[in-house]
Amino acid sequence: MKASWLQPSGPCTTCSCFAIQQNAQNAAEAKKENGGKLPIPKIFFGTRTHKQIAQIVKELHRTGYSYVHMTILSSREYSCVHPRISRGSNKNEKCAELLEGKEGVSCSFYHGAHRLTEHLSIPSVDKKAQVWDLEELVSLGKKFRSCAYFAARELMAYAEIVFCPYNYLLDSQIRQSVWIGTIGAGPKRRQLRATFQHTETFEFQDEVGELLLSVCQTVRRGVLCFLPSYKMLDKLKDRWLHTSLWEKLELIKTVIVEPKGGDKADFDELLQIYSDAIKSQNGKDGALLIAVCRGKVSEGLDFSDDNARAVLTIGIPFPNLKDLQVELKRKYNDQHSKARGLLTGSQWYEVQAYRALNQALGRCIRHRSDWGALILVDDR
Ligand code: SF4
Repeated sequence: MKASWLQPSGPCTTCSCFAIQQNAQNAAEAKKENGGKLPIPKIFFGTRTHKQIAQIVKELHRTGYSYVHMTILSSREYSCVHPRISRGSNKNEKCAELLEGKEGVSCSFYHGAHRLTEHLSIPSVDKKAQVWDLEELVSLGKKFRSCAYFAARELMAYAEIVFCPYNYLLDSQIRQSVWIGTIGAGPKRRQLRATFQHTETFEFQDEVGELLLSVCQTVRRGVLCFLPSYKMLDKLKDRWLHTSLWEKLELIKTVIVEPKGGDKADFDELLQIYSDAIKSQNGKDGALLIAVCRGKVSEGLDFSDDNARAVLTIGIPFPNLKDLQVELKRKYNDQHSKARGLLTGSQWYEVQAYRALNQALGRCIRHRSDWGALILVDDR
């Protein structure tokens, strides 16, 4: 695992003036909302799993930063401390019902969340050992009779570092409260909203192309770019061949495209070409691998160190709604969500997209001294 970074407030590779302008505007708004004071800048540390967060916290504990203000975002699945609800299924739904007063009483842990927040946000006298892991948070929650789920969110106001699974970085509320941004516009300032209607337009296709080109110009060695489907991959490739953008990419990097079918030997050969191009000094600076979420590259392959110094994901890879299996699974979940404690069809659908995104982003985060940029492109 490595320290993945997402630069707060609109990470941008070339259109820095636009990002700076946006940052200034966001900072002014945030200051206004925070009683004239600038909010605490935050580092977001995204990982694929909570187990990885636990490992990182353990490492942090051993450093000089062990007193840093922090929080860990998790779902109710991990941090609900209500004696009955935490043991059942459908924790989100049950919690919401309780808080809406549907059971006649609210959750006393919710109303006591501030006790845990105060305990963890007030610096200790010797400024030591303030970092905690999720297990400790939950056990403190039980001790103080405080909801660990809501306390962790309240702690975001004080936190200098926020640990969370990658999908939280896409949560619009979290993005707003800390001014984190995925890239919503390209170098020509055209909006990048990866919905079906937009991706069909040349404007979108050209803007994504310019963005990818600028990343390749900026980031040395290996760059991975993940698209939501082979259909979009073909569409973009056709357009970029037509506009000569492909040629420009090839002048900088060896460009490789994940094939849709084919046997394993052919695919291994392509991967070998990719890694050889990164190692060699053949006049180009590394390689670009354009692949598809849920494809061969996005799941299971290891792109450590120079093999992936940047990973871009374009759009949110929702499964194909017209796929019969997807349609049936959604219906099945809707019909049985209550009785069997399943996610509803649309929740399941959304989770699939984030899972695929997590997998793709997780390709380059392979060990603790590894590093790279994770760039999520979509204005949604
Ligand atoms: S408020 Fe917290 S403790 Fe209470 S049910 Fe919801 S998640 Fe669980």
